[in-house]
Amino acid sequence: MIKKAKHIAIYGKGGIGKSTTTSNISAALAEAGYRVIQIGCDPKSDSTNTLRGGNYLPTVLDSLRENNNVKLSDISVEGFKGVLCIEAGGPVPGVGCAGRGINAAVELLQQLNLFEEYKPDYVLYDVLGDVVCGGFAVPIRDGITDRAFVVSSSDFMAVYAANNLFKAINKYAPSGGAKLGGIIANGLSASYSESLIDDFAERTGTKVVGYVPRSLVVSQSELFGKTVIEANPHSEHANIYRNLAKYIADSDELDIPNPLNVTELRDWARTWGDRIFEFESGVVKRGEAI
Ligand code: ADP
Ligand code: MG
Repeated sequence: MIKKAKHIAIYGKGGIGKSTTTSNISAALAEAGYRVIQIGCDPKSDSTNTLRGGNYLPTVLDSLRENNNVKLSDISVEGFKGVLCIEAGGPVPGVGCAGRGINAAVELLQQLNLFEEYKPDYVLYDVLGDVVCGGFAVPIRDGITDRAFVVSSSDFMAVYAANNLFKAINKYAPSGGAKLGGIIANGLSASYSESLIDDFAERTGTKVVGYVPRSLVVSQSELFGKTVIEANPHSEHANIYRNLAKYIADSDELDIPNPLNVTELRDWARTWGDRIFEFESGVVKRGEAI
């Protein structure tokens, strides 16, 4: 029997750590012997930088603009432990929909028979999720992926973006769109952070699948142009990413979340606004209900 690849989307607001997290998951899966493709679906086109030493990689959209006979070798390069790196790219700034790159990239990769020929075990899509407009919803809407994870910190705007993704999943999952694998809590540093994100997960009917604290090891690895798995393989953070990768690879526990409406989200945030200084001073203990 031919094993089918798992196609996984990783969403989250800009700058929240999607590419860092996705690249470390790819690196950990590749290190464990899996065949992995990572497709950057952010107009920033820097998703796979730390997997390929920062070398220039033309985006799919740029290549399509210049040439109508694009080959796989024009738009992909093998990075750390053979992870196949692809950047969808974006429109000319100020013109057109940024989601177009995702559509064009996936169509081209299908035409080039990439998934049949490369035979990946995992395909990871690193998707900007500030607004889940039609374009950005493509990976979860059109059957491209069957599961999505969201990277969020305990900052309100990150949670807000996660909640927007939940709205899109809630809308599209019943008609064959992707379901939610859970939340990857990233960049946690304050004492209330874990409790806040746990509480948000519980309220929306999902779970936190990994906690990645803010760490200098991540910053240092990025300065070296590498993932943590490559630059600091024996660090605690490398193991955090390995465990996260293992969960994402193995788990088939998927949910259709129940997003909060605007008023519920505001009210929920306010209850936390009332409590965070109590957390900081130790009046409320970590994990304690509020
Ligand atoms: P995104 O892809 O969501 O736009 P990035 O992955 O590029 O975000 O991360 C933005 C910045 O945050 C990068 O400089 C990255 O090194 C840093 N970063 C992400 N996660 C962590 C972490 N857990 N600890 C420290 N720095 C982090
Ligand atoms: Mg990114």
